[in-house]
Amino acid sequence: MVSINKSFFYGIIVASITWLVSVFFYLHLVRNQNVNTNPSTTKLEYIDKLQDSTDDLENVGLIRSPNDQKIKEEGYKIHAYNTLVSDRLSLNRIIPDTRNALCKNKTYSDNLPKTSVIICFYNEHYHTLLRTIHSIINRTPSKLLEEIILIDDESDIEYLHSNISDYILKEKLNQVKLYKTERREGLIRARIFGARKASGQVLLFLDSHIEVNNGWIEPLLERIKEKQSNVVMPIIDIINPDTFKYSSSPLVRGGFNWGLHFKWDNLPTGTLNTREDFVKPIKSPTMAGGLFAIDKKYFIDIGEYDAGMNIWGGENIEISFRIWMCGGSLELIPCSRVGHIFRHRRPYGSPDGKDTMLFNSLRVAHVWMDSYKDFFLRQRSDAQNVDYGDISSRLQLRKELKCHDFDWYLKNVYPELPFPSEDKERLKKKWSAVEKDKYQPWHLRKRNYVDQFAIRLTNSDLCVTSQKDIRTKGSGLLLKKCTSSKNQVWYETDKNELVLSQLLCLQSGKTKPILYKCHEMGGDQEWKHKGGSGTAIYNLAAGTCLAAENKLVNASVTMKICSNPELATWDLVG
Ligand code: UDP
Ligand code: MN
Repeated sequence: MVSINKSFFYGIIVASITWLVSVFFYLHLVRNQNVNTNPSTTKLEYIDKLQDSTDDLENVGLIRSPNDQKIKEEGYKIHAYNTLVSDRLSLNRIIPDTRNALCKNKTYSDNLPKTSVIICFYNEHYHTLLRTIHSIINRTPSKLLEEIILIDDESDIEYLHSNISDYILKEKLNQVKLYKTERREGLIRARIFGARKASGQVLLFLDSHIEVNNGWIEPLLERIKEKQSNVVMPIIDIINPDTFKYSSSPLVRGGFNWGLHFKWDNLPTGTLNTREDFVKPIKSPTMAGGLFAIDKKYFIDIGEYDAGMNIWGGENIEISFRIWMCGGSLELIPCSRVGHIFRHRRPYGSPDGKDTMLFNSLRVAHVWMDSYKDFFLRQRSDAQNVDYGDISSRLQLRKELKCHDFDWYLKNVYPELPFPSEDKERLKKKWSAVEKDKYQPWHLRKRNYVDQFAIRLTNSDLCVTSQKDIRTKGSGLLLKKCTSSKNQVWYETDKNELVLSQLLCLQSGKTKPILYKCHEMGGDQEWKHKGGSGTAIYNLAAGTCLAAENKLVNASVTMKICSNPELATWDLVG
């Protein structure tokens, strides 16, 4: 009996192996045929199709070796985003089309103006910059694209410049022109440098870590064609810096506070009444930063940028004030979408270590804000006695252009901005005038729970428990006897967050998971598992899995490479 069973068992194993091997060769054959024999499918397109599936995006961050870990850590240090993921994604990857359905039926003039796209970069990650360029070439009709001008702002990453230059030659990207500044200029002067090289009728400024979406350029150019002084911006979608997941941004507009920091505001009440309103241009008091299109002649006429500004910061507020106060208008175009990697920190400083945002903001205040500059100066006590260079030519420009004063701007363009001196009642009234119910920005949306469970280490009676009180931000996690108490009940959301007792989110942390305020941006708070018993719990940003130090009460909970199931297999118990 035993021996019959044994040979029967071996028979099945041999048959299974033969079967698996043939399936493998069959799939291999089919795959190669697809790539080689179908003339309409290039190799790159084939890879894109693979990477379009959500499954691949989830696993693309997986750390498989110490070398992966090293690439990832170095990347975060230099670029402040996940370069391991960026390297693994295709340069031509497909992203979700985030436009409103109404945009897809719109038609545009045949003779839209030709555009010079201007991208300056300082130490950008090579592969990410190439993806920026590819996305533009892939999604811009060539008759609208005069050129792509790349300005290397004296990057100091070895071989970056020559690698880009070689790539342009090798791939015959004739419309891409690469320049280098003579010294580190900062993004403001680097953009002026690029604009002066441009020969297109329209200048389109972009950051070096973006991906443009379908039909992004036509609605921008149409609006400039209608009126030369329309300065227009795409909606900036979000590319998650940890996972590279591309997601849609809500319709909000640009504002600022009295510290002259840019902020997103809800739209004024009544902006979004009809379906059409969701695709119409939206007037915006300020622009977020580097993503906008402007007629070249108009850009020169209104004084380019303030070349006295250094490195980064404040130039977006300056050009916004100038556009509005000197006769132009600034609008968001909902049908135009460009994804941007929003980093958690900026990975560079200024060469002399000075706060260029403060220096530049002082220039804005003294040139454009008249007596309202006192609000800024009072708010920024650190600004006292700080030098802000020579502003005489900018004051002269304001005079020559016969611009409105700042009081006009506040009354006509940004009446919602509260003054520091206003009492609470008036503030309330102002804020009740902004759209609340119809379109909530992501950070105000309610959480949707889809499941609830304790996380128990498989083959034990130990559950993941908060080390400190369930309300303590930054608390670590330990194994404790499963008791179903509040500090062991996890609520799962439709965004794959794990929220302890509906309060704080499980976040992968640098080395160990912690509890933290839910930020709804996915990444380090986004967890995947297959549910039930014996599952791994994988974090998308970390590329690693939830694991216990050992199988004892009070063992700490950490993050480990997923391919090692010991102490990283869990039961989700309801
Ligand atoms: N940049 C530059 N020189 C600098 C600083 C920044 O050319 O000294 C470029 C940078 O590579 C990017 C753009 O300017 O393409 C905007 O900078 P960043 O993305 O750091 O700003 P953020 O998006 O965080 O506002
Ligand atoms: Mn940026």
